[in-house]
Amino acid sequence: MNSTEEQVLIGAAVVIPNLAGLHARPASMLAAQAKKFASTIRIVRNADAVNAKSIVAIMGLGSQCGDSINVQAIGADAVEAIHVLTALLASGCGESQTDQSTEPHHVDSPVTRGIATAPHQIAGVSASSGLAVGRIVQFRHAAMEVPEHGGTPALERLRFNAALLEAGVQIDTLMVEIGDTAESKILKAHQELLGDPDLLKLAAEGIQQRKSAGFAWRAAFLQYASRLEALEGNHNALLRERGNDIRDVGRRVLGQLVEGSHPSFELPEGAILIASELTPSDTASFDRSKLLGFCTTTGGPTSHVAILAKSFGIPALCSIDESALNLAEGTLVVLDGTGGLLNGQPTIADIEQAQARIVELNAKNQQDRLNANALALTRDGHRIEVVANVRNAQETMEGVANGADGVGLLRSEFLFDDRDSAPTEEEQATVYAAVANALGPDRPLVVRTLDVGGDKPLSYLPIPKEENPFLGLRGVRVSLDQPAFFRTQLRAILRCAGLAKLHIMFPMIATLEELRQAKSILAEERSTSNAADVQVGMMIEVPSAAVLAEQFAREADFFSIGTNDLTQYTLAMDRGHPKLAQKADGLHPAVLKMIALTCDGAHKHGKWVGVCGGLASDALAIPVLIGLGVVELSVSVPAVPAVKSLIQRLSILECEMLAQEVIQMGTATEVRARLTAFASTKEE
Ligand code: PEP
Ligand code: MG
Repeated sequence: MNSTEEQVLIGAAVVIPNLAGLHARPASMLAAQAKKFASTIRIVRNADAVNAKSIVAIMGLGSQCGDSINVQAIGADAVEAIHVLTALLASGCGESQTDQSTEPHHVDSPVTRGIATAPHQIAGVSASSGLAVGRIVQFRHAAMEVPEHGGTPALERLRFNAALLEAGVQIDTLMVEIGDTAESKILKAHQELLGDPDLLKLAAEGIQQRKSAGFAWRAAFLQYASRLEALEGNHNALLRERGNDIRDVGRRVLGQLVEGSHPSFELPEGAILIASELTPSDTASFDRSKLLGFCTTTGGPTSHVAILAKSFGIPALCSIDESALNLAEGTLVVLDGTGGLLNGQPTIADIEQAQARIVELNAKNQQDRLNANALALTRDGHRIEVVANVRNAQETMEGVANGADGVGLLRSEFLFDDRDSAPTEEEQATVYAAVANALGPDRPLVVRTLDVGGDKPLSYLPIPKEENPFLGLRGVRVSLDQPAFFRTQLRAILRCAGLAKLHIMFPMIATLEELRQAKSILAEERSTSNAADVQVGMMIEVPSAAVLAEQFAREADFFSIGTNDLTQYTLAMDRGHPKLAQKADGLHPAVLKMIALTCDGAHKHGKWVGVCGGLASDALAIPVLIGLGVVELSVSVPAVPAVKSLIQRLSILECEMLAQEVIQMGTATEVRARLTAFASTKEE
């Protein structure tokens, strides 16, 4: 290629490898690189050509995995620009898994939708359990009055630049305050949006046409947000989220331009916040010590707000009835995150009862923690192992401090996230050894091999676009498809045998052939390692595995039931779908029957069964699981003390009778009603 300043140069076609197309993260990396060149650069797909220096323009292209695109440039450094950007596009623009900032894949709690039994009760879906008495704070994104006309274009430009600067400072300050969290990554993307040339150009054009800076800016960011939200494609939820990011950052700048607006929001003490939605900027700016609970009218139990509430350890409801938006500011309410209800007009007795319950719950928490090192023995002397679901050594140490008997699920995929190339054997072995050392030689460690694919892309392990990612290359299927990758992981895991009681388990096994193939690769790697005493098991997440559990049990040392996936595959309900949230219930009798089949099949061959899905942490479900024959519960780290304490109040006999009764029922509602009645007899 020869470059002249007048000639448009065209790069070779590249097939987009990113599973979610060029969305926020790859788009921002591409734009950042493009900005280093003086040339005018466009990304071209068929008839569409967009500015390569603009994140919103690249995202707006709506490109998908497998699309063919190329880079075009004109200018002095066009040749180099095309070379660098074409290579970047072909390599996936450094995309990594954490871009999928909603994490439907890793939620530990099953779904409860409250049932309002009185007019003042407002039902929602439980997003985080717990109880709180507090005062309503209605959080609205105030509809700002934005005058159409302002001063001269020169003056409006000055105001606009000052507003951009101030918004940037605010975001910087927030990022420092919240440290290195998922939210801080989102805020970083917001920072980049503030410098997006296409957005700024559109706003500048508006100002030039004698609109006020606020009016021009609002028109620009709303146009881009709606364009993203209107895109068709496989990743609509993701694009909607990016649309929200643009609105979020847009409002922040607008707050600077509109008189009398107060972008910073002071929470009063003891607040229970009601909002239609909460953006990352909103939640990052709240004073957490004043916040007792959240309710949002949108979102599912895996939404941003739900994940956040769990990490704060406060009750929250999502998809709450819209009538919650009408509750008067300052109203004293009772929020029951566990039961999925907001009592908007509690009587004095209701409040006293809730307050007494909160005192009890706090005391019980403390007591459970004190007793958490005791074994979880039922009243009639049967031991249930209570182990933890963890992602790394830090969580393992917290689990042990909370009384966990070991680790029942190490979600190894977290080692593979947020990076541009796969971790080496050495890197992986270091992490597995740290987890194993945190446990010591007498505690079990169950390492699950890589569980990604389909809905969870890894940039360095491209999987072609799929119509139904949950039914595609996912879990062990990815490992079998990429044996070299799989072997590296197995070698790394085997290196920690002996540091803890090592168990290796394969996710999402659907057929015996898959189990055999995975086992035979493992056997080959074991023959060259000196790892002794490794138990090899599988997850039961697919109905075929539960139905044929007896056949699988001949060839697996143990089963661990992933109730999150088993529920979605048994009921054919996407686990991340907000509209199905309340129906995709792990306590549905069909799911319980799958668990019963699994236990019966395992026991015929003397194998043990654990549960590592969200149901294991659910107090209602635990008696049934134990009654069906489950002997290991792998639960979220904070839940360990309470789960142990509950087991100590149960007897195997009563659990078995209860289990046999509920698996005869026809609906999840009936099961829940019966289990709630049973649980009330077990309260301390
Ligand atoms: C499950 O499916 O229940 C499980 C434990 O796996 P994950 O939630 O990681 O898919
Ligand atoms: Mg799973």
